[in-house]
Amino acid sequence: MPREVAPSLVSGDVRRHNLSLVMGLLAQKPSARSEISAATGLTRGAVTALVNQLLEAGLVRESGQSAASKGRPLTNLELWAEDVALLAVQLASDEATALLTDLAGEPVHRGSLPHHRPMGDPDAVLDVVARVVEDALAAARTRGRRVVDMTVVVLAPVGGSPPKVVGDLSLGWGEVDVLAGLRARVPALDGQLRLSTDMPLAALAELRHLGPIDDAVYLKADSNIGGALVVGGRVIEGAHGLGGALAHVPVVRDGLLCDCGQHGCLVTVAGIDALLVAEGRDPGEARESPSAALGAFVGRVEAGDASARSAWDGALPVIAATLQILASALDPRVVIVGGHWARLSASIAGEFAANRADIVAVGSPLGATVVAGPLGPDAGLRGAIEAARARQLADPLRIKFNS
Ligand SMILES: [Zn+2]
Repeated sequence: MPREVAPSLVSGDVRRHNLSLVMGLLAQKPSARSEISAATGLTRGAVTALVNQLLEAGLVRESGQSAASKGRPLTNLELWAEDVALLAVQLASDEATALLTDLAGEPVHRGSLPHHRPMGDPDAVLDVVARVVEDALAAARTRGRRVVDMTVVVLAPVGGSPPKVVGDLSLGWGEVDVLAGLRARVPALDGQLRLSTDMPLAALAELRHLGPIDDAVYLKADSNIGGALVVGGRVIEGAHGLGGALAHVPVVRDGLLCDCGQHGCLVTVAGIDALLVAEGRDPGEARESPSAALGAFVGRVEAGDASARSAWDGALPVIAATLQILASALDPRVVIVGGHWARLSASIAGEFAANRADIVAVGSPLGATVVAGPLGPDAGLRGAIEAARARQLADPLRIKFNS
């Protein structure tokens, strides 16, 4: 017997919760009212009232009919919200990229501009980010959509209140208030801005695409090396918000001095600058766009270029050692290799397996498996959009009244 809930009597919280249940279902697939009732345990009457509210708000619409098992055909409802959009903007160490989607997460517009990496000059970089944001807002406007949720994703630690970039070695930044800088440059932006560091978003997005996995080590390399440690479905932030800073695991005893002040960090061996030097090339190739330089390097390794393969073979034991230490400490289900390194994940998997105890051998039920992250360099952006969707679907009527 379905739970009786009189829509007119329920508190705002319960109604919001029930609306989010209905929206969450419709976000997965179009459904008829009776299917919503069966899936949520809400009565038909309650579902009808909730759906009417969502129809009135323009968040869902009636779509085609599906054959009923008996009797008349059922009218399907689907997510609609044609006048709203979600925006995620990623500031990498070489470019700014905007991804505008509808409420279902389907891309509506994508734009990217290089900022040419002016070291120690946040204003020059924020000018470029602001142009990417303005282009995305204009793209939304021409499609009759209003941006209801916007996240700026940075490849750097974020802290404080209001949140700011704490520091970014790859851009030569100290503390930078990115959100204030954008609001000053784009008057159309209001208070709905968020600032997030990319790795937790990227790791959770990759995990969702790989299946129901709660424990993982995530290692990503594109314009820099980063990572995240996921335990029990949660990303470990640590005491200072710096958990998962895998570039700076000091894995080489008495190794090279890193920009961070430690010796022998992973990035001193496996960062793009170090790989280019090992390859006999000019590390200046990575100056403007470390991500493009790494992508080209990976291409040379895949093509069998002897110098590139030799450089990669030199870095592999250090990458594997980093992952072996983390796997021993955390016992993850999977090690996800993301960004450009995803294309080389088989070689990382082989090196990783070479020094694991028998009981945790790769492929055994007890061992961690090294897998390629399916989302590539877009993982942070996709994660930001998915988090935005979850926020908006959790309180659907708010969408209508926020702008
Ligand atoms: Zn370091």
